[in-house]
Amino acid sequence: MPTFQTPRGTSDILPSDQPYWKLVSSTVESLAQRYGYRRIDTPIFEDTGLFVRGVGQSTDIVEKEMYSFMTKGGDALTLRPEATASFCRAYLQHGMQNLPQPVKLFTVGPFFRHDRPGAGRYRQFHQVNFECIGEADPAVDAEVIQLAWELYATLGLRDLSVLLNSIGCPNCRPAYLDALRQYYAPLVEELCRECQARLERNPLRLLDCKNPTCQALSSKAPRSVDFLCEACADHFSRLGTYLGLLGVPFEVSHRLVRGLDYYTRTVFEVIPPDATSQGTIGGGGRYDGLIEQIGGPATPGIGFASGVERVILNLRNQGIAALPIGKTLLYIAPIGETAREFALPLLKRARQDGIPTVIGLGSRSLKSQLKQASSQQVPFVAIIGEEEIGTNEVTLRDLRTGEQKKISVQLLGPAVREMLAGPGGPQP
Ligand code: AMP
Repeated sequence: MPTFQTPRGTSDILPSDQPYWKLVSSTVESLAQRYGYRRIDTPIFEDTGLFVRGVGQSTDIVEKEMYSFMTKGGDALTLRPEATASFCRAYLQHGMQNLPQPVKLFTVGPFFRHDRPGAGRYRQFHQVNFECIGEADPAVDAEVIQLAWELYATLGLRDLSVLLNSIGCPNCRPAYLDALRQYYAPLVEELCRECQARLERNPLRLLDCKNPTCQALSSKAPRSVDFLCEACADHFSRLGTYLGLLGVPFEVSHRLVRGLDYYTRTVFEVIPPDATSQGTIGGGGRYDGLIEQIGGPATPGIGFASGVERVILNLRNQGIAALPIGKTLLYIAPIGETAREFALPLLKRARQDGIPTVIGLGSRSLKSQLKQASSQQVPFVAIIGEEEIGTNEVTLRDLRTGEQKKISVQLLGPAVREMLAGPGGPQP
């Protein structure tokens, strides 16, 4: 084993992983453009106080997970554990409150949390963040959730669920927190140690504890939606209506609270079909008090973050391939002139389907075409002879494994993608 390895919880993004990263970032950029979000890149580290005040003292992030350090010059800095506080800092620092509102910003980049590494959980991970600052209308909440939904749908992910809840505002939340404390008071002995410690300071967090006993208890706990003030109840009800109109399916989850203190009203999460192994794929919510908390004027905001590694994990789990960058994937090998005429429209169609494709030129034999494809390291060859023309098919051969099958010409593009995601995997 080499002397040096990547630090625990971090990984190299190898050339073979890059097509997935490119797929995610290009999908994010094109969505951002369509929804009117502009890119911002904030520093990798910020004043520690920004996260302590913004994210909240009693959160797991601030209590346990920050990479904080003192510089030689005596500054207390922290590697950014999340983006929202930095976006709000930038919004204030650059006077963005003077721009037409709302201000819509996005970023993609690395974040750092000293968490216990596991499947889909890392110490350096990457997030896509969309934040919409300066507008309290629930139509904005609906748009952000729809954007998240469209991001995953565009990438091809299936069977995801959106969980939604409202955790109220500073007017109505105190009564809810009291109700939670009262509910848990006689059960305190049954709670895990962490929840016992949290009960006074942050009773909301008891609802999303992963301990099975705590989960069983929280299923009967009071529900935040029953304590919403009139304005919060109206916001939540209109959000539900708007999501329905936008065709975003969702489920109200009374235990959804999210781990960051700054959320008000709307909180949501998107979860994959096998959520237990990897946790949420993305989530977000409204943070109407955050900008005030870090020293600015009262300004509403809502945002969404998704872990890039988790998106890629789910793409791989669902057999969705990202095409390798700059690599020819398909060689169409017609045998004879009639086959070539049959093949040319297929060449056009495969390229339109986004598959880098070439065709055998000149009057090469099949053997010579296969040899050429192999020497150019093209993984798939579509062979077209008389038989194939007769049935309107091609013989698709995987040069990596030698397997081949007949498929209808209409399915050539999807078949290549499917084989690419199969056991041979995308090639570096
Ligand atoms: P959060 O900022 O905690 O709301 O997380 C938003 C999203 O970032 C999650 O749904 C995950 O996809 C991703 N994420 C958060 N923490 C980690 C981590 N430690 N490792 C990998 N992805 C993470």
